[in-house]
Amino acid sequence: MVRVIMLSPPGAGKGTHSRWLRLQTGAAHISSGDVLRAEVARGSDLGRQVAAYTERGDLVPDELIFRILAPAVVAAARDTGGYVLDGFPRTMPQALRAAQFGADLALTSNAVIYLTAPEEELVSRLLDRARREGRSDDTLGVIRHRLAVFARETTPLIDYYRGRGILLELSTDRPEADVQADLLDWLQARGLMPPAARRSEPDHAEPAGDTPVGNRDRPATTSLSNKPST
Ligand code: AMP
Repeated sequence: MVRVIMLSPPGAGKGTHSRWLRLQTGAAHISSGDVLRAEVARGSDLGRQVAAYTERGDLVPDELIFRILAPAVVAAARDTGGYVLDGFPRTMPQALRAAQFGADLALTSNAVIYLTAPEEELVSRLLDRARREGRSDDTLGVIRHRLAVFARETTPLIDYYRGRGILLELSTDRPEADVQADLLDWLQARGLMPPAARRSEPDHAEPAGDTPVGNRDRPATTSLSNKPST
């Protein structure tokens, strides 16, 4: 079963490709941003602390992140046997602690997908999403800040995971179907997915269940737009 970390700057498509991977594999998809936004929407004390960071585009402190996310990741991984982590880890301390956690629980990650696109393309996708979804941190100033935070805090993880031999770098500045074909080939070559496992579902579809499904070879997959979701 895949235990994947999606590593990508804002706007590179980690939400879209994480949902696609969930459909392909049945592994739980956990979006740290969605979990945090749900906590904010609940209006809890914790949510108010979280909002102070997310509204500015700053990272939520590692301690809070572990408190909020660890139970969800462990429960989901136990339920499905795998995971697609969308937006976590995002700092070296998070990565090191997650690795320790994974080793202790036999849930070590076996793939890290690093999605890339030119910076101006990322900005334009996020501004487009702002028009569609109105996310409060998708304003130009906060977008630029989130990209700078990614460069400073998250890019060190690229070499860390490359050194572990589990990193795949993929440009998303091209049709989604091409990105997903490369991703699938790589996962299959590493024995993380069965050959010819591929479904043609729109990226907003809900999974039919927790087991891998589909045996259709290379149909057109999702829409060819480059819209990001997280
Ligand atoms: P995202 O939906 O992945 O773009 O995340 C939205 C916001 O949530 C980020 O800008 C951060 O403020 C916060 N966030 C998400 N994941 C993390 C993380 N792993 N560590 C710290 N902050 C996070």
